Amino acid sequence: MERPADVLATDVLIVGAGIAGLAAAAELAASGLQITILEARDRIGGRIFTLHPSEFEFPLELGAEFVHGRPPELLSLLQDANATLQQVGGVDACFRHGKVSRCKESDKAFALLDELADVARQQGDMSFEAFLERRRPAPEIAERARSFVEGFNAADARRIGIAALARQQQAEEEIGGFESSRSTTGYDVLPRYLARRAEHAGARILLSSPTASLQWKTGAVIAHTVSGASFSASKAIVTLPLGVLKARSVAFQPEPAHTFAATDRMEAGSVRRLVLVFRSPFWEEKIADMRFLFTDTMKPATYWTQHPSDAPMLIGWLGGPQANAMRDSSQLLVQALRTLERIFSLPSQSLDAELRNWYMHDWLNDPFTLGAYSYAPAGALDCSAAMTEPVDNTLFFAGEHTDITGHWGTVHGALRSGLRAAEQVLGQPS
Ligand SMILES: Cc1cc2nc3c(=O)[nH]c(=O)nc-3n(C[C@H](O)[C@H](O)[C@H](O)COP(=O)(O)OP(=O)(O)OC[C@H]3O[C@@H](n4cnc5c(N)ncnc54)[C@H](O)[C@@H]3O)c2cc1C
Repeated sequence: MERPADVLATDVLIVGAGIAGLAAAAELAASGLQITILEARDRIGGRIFTLHPSEFEFPLELGAEFVHGRPPELLSLLQDANATLQQVGGVDACFRHGKVSRCKESDKAFALLDELADVARQQGDMSFEAFLERRRPAPEIAERARSFVEGFNAADARRIGIAALARQQQAEEEIGGFESSRSTTGYDVLPRYLARRAEHAGARILLSSPTASLQWKTGAVIAHTVSGASFSASKAIVTLPLGVLKARSVAFQPEPAHTFAATDRMEAGSVRRLVLVFRSPFWEEKIADMRFLFTDTMKPATYWTQHPSDAPMLIGWLGGPQANAMRDSSQLLVQALRTLERIFSLPSQSLDAELRNWYMHDWLNDPFTLGAYSYAPAGALDCSAAMTEPVDNTLFFAGEHTDITGHWGTVHGALRSGLRAAEQVLGQPS
């Protein structure tokens, strides 16, 4: 491996300034190591992407919004960052058979999910669709369960494994994951705090610096950026999203075979998340204090408000194969407006005038994400753990897809992975 003359040297290189990269940087810099983060975008935060438009008094999230449950590491950091969390509350509404009303308390579709752990143990891992085929619930229940699994996990029911779903469910129960909260000033409070901590301890965060290749041998790494700058270190933490790794957008020379074999067996899921800001919360007339709204047959099938905040905003959410199929964002907007008019018995096209603005980020085609978040297909439950194995004590992988605690696809999963990678670099047991 040749070392170019103008290479900038550092102790540890971190690729990516999302939560995993920033958390690792803050830890390592605090322990006295020289850290350089190479970030492709002109901002930090990755899939935490908060907008603060001047015309609104509330923040808009284009990526992560919820703190799911009470994950201790995340809550403690948010407290240090002086974030104010608001518990998500209110009433869930269902649009079934042409009528919108409060959802019924017990839903047989959710009860199905409670069976997954036993079935996986007794019959082995299989896709959720294969589980439905064996279990044969009523078609309406099957569709509701499929829609939930695909929506929540950004996954294809024909691919996602029930062993991973069961592990995730158990992990969520352990942290009270069915309750959620959100930061009233926006989720970007977290990456900004971590970046401040890292920089205060001497870390350098270089924005607009996409890594093109990582050359490495035991104890030495050189990263070349697209603009031609080079950085060397004895170790690197790679927090590239799963979609970016799978696409080989960054050339590893040589490619660590064991890590990439696992990468290729994991799946980068698909989501379209639409932010609709209205002039008034028109839904309140029919369903006061609405939190979530679920529909059976129309797309997007899931919406939510900002309750208990009174921001007149609805988020439309489409996950899994349907998100993949919906390539045109203005088509999704029109579909969402027509769907909402039908649900709330409003005249056709009346919501066009009610809409103040709308926003969407295309995570699926964003070259620095190439997907929403990861999931483990049937038979791939071991992959995340394989990706956490250090490569020759030189390359370390972090990011939500490498979480091994059942919290793939979350901010706290990404945070844990960054802290774990930092411990590995420091040579402590994880
Ligand atoms: C629409 C959406 C909604 C979500 N909602 C929630 C939610 O409500 N709650 C929750 O807990 N989680 C949610 N998530 C998931 C959560 O956002 C992620 O799990 C988490 O933010 C991932 O952090 P990360 O550090 O692993 O990856 P990222 O945040 O993606 O960070 C990776 C970084 O690498 C950078 N990068 C990419 N390529 C290069 C390159 N070549 N060179 C240098 N840098 C590069 C990227 O720009 C990025 O900054 C959501 C995700 C999406 C997409």
